[in-house]
Amino acid sequence: MKKKGLIVAVDGHSSTGKSTVSKILAARLGYTYIDTGAMYRIVTLKAMRDGLIRDGKVDDEGLKRVLPTIVFGFKYDEGKRRYESYMDGEYVEAAIRGMDVSGNVSVVAALPYVRELLVEKQREMAREGGVIMDGRDIGSVVFPNAEVKFFMTASPEVRAERRYKELTEKGERVTYEEVEANVRKRDYIDEHRETAPLVRVPDAVLIDNSDMTVEEEVEKMIQIIRSRYESRD
Ligand code: C5P
Repeated sequence: MKKKGLIVAVDGHSSTGKSTVSKILAARLGYTYIDTGAMYRIVTLKAMRDGLIRDGKVDDEGLKRVLPTIVFGFKYDEGKRRYESYMDGEYVEAAIRGMDVSGNVSVVAALPYVRELLVEKQREMAREGGVIMDGRDIGSVVFPNAEVKFFMTASPEVRAERRYKELTEKGERVTYEEVEANVRKRDYIDEHRETAPLVRVPDAVLIDNSDMTVEEEVEKMIQIIRSRYESRD
């Protein structure tokens, strides 16, 4: 019988290119890519549209009411080998990536009742194994027994530069300073929140890609995944 695929946890700071490398790894290995950040972004978009976030403050009663009603759609695209995000049946892939959602998402992601629901869904989605899951708490909370764990980082300046380029290429009007401030603020909130803070667990392989190309990174990660897979019973 063919061995079940591994669970690969890819955690790390914002804008380190986790999703870029995770998608490539998934395609190369025939695994499924799961973007958990998209799930937190969907909840944020819903809360914003329903007027439940004002000046960075969340109306907890309101959000607790709507949270169980959100229909998360992650339609698996065979060609791209990844999930595309839908909210209540609406395609929201573009809407969840803008600066307005990025500005509020870390506050929403710090709420324990939000995390509890999403972690349950993430475990369910990975039941069959053979997944690359990217996020902040995958190796620490969602799958503490994941067979392979990576922790990705790069300097805040390098990350802000990459993100600024990505946003302006999509036509969003932002300044570099705004993007850098958002990257630093998200790091701070993610690392200091009480529930499931961003931490580098001791068994995660550190990948600092400040001076690495995507190809170099992917090669290094693939080698590690393959050797773990081969050495497994
Ligand atoms: O990965 P991405 O930057 O799209 O994630 C958006 C935000 O969602 C992060 O800044 C973080 O606050 C939150 N997040 C989280 N736990 C995860 C994935 C994302 O708290 N597993």
